[in-house]
Amino acid sequence: MRMDRNIKERGHDPYAEARKYPEGAYCPECGAVYRQGRWIWSDVPVRLGNPVLCGACKRVRDAFPAGEVRLSGSYVKKHKDEILNLINKTVGQATSRSPLKRLMDIEEAEGNLVVRLTDDHLARRVAHAVHRAFKGDLRVRYSLEERFVRLQWQREM
Ligand SMILES: [Zn+2]
Repeated sequence: MRMDRNIKERGHDPYAEARKYPEGAYCPECGAVYRQGRWIWSDVPVRLGNPVLCGACKRVRDAFPAGEVRLSGSYVKKHKDEILNLINKTVGQATSRSPLKRLMDIEEAEGNLVVRLTDDHLARRVAHAVHRAFKGDLRVRYSLEERFVRLQWQREM
């Protein structure tokens, strides 16, 4: 497993949040608010300021995830609920802290699961949580051009 955190910072990312939004802008889709340089959840609904789609809602709209976790092997079929619970818990914690870290969808095909996320760090976190809890094999592939991380987890039996 190879992880190079430095490479990541250099690629061009059309969804990068480096760009500045007007203070107090809000996302009309999810209700996140842009304050002091970052998107946060607001305790109260905000409908003042400029409406602008946040990075996560943009990715959802474009169906363009930042990371993908593929889970395969006979273990997935047998322990699907436990695995999904862990994934949802891990994502839920991240989402509650940052509007940009969200689950896009979970696709199920032939007993395998494909989890798509709006944030590459979150994709890593989900894959590592599964790996820690259920062992198995984890492989990481990072595409510099696309700034897209794909993690492949597998366990038989
Ligand atoms: Zn949003």
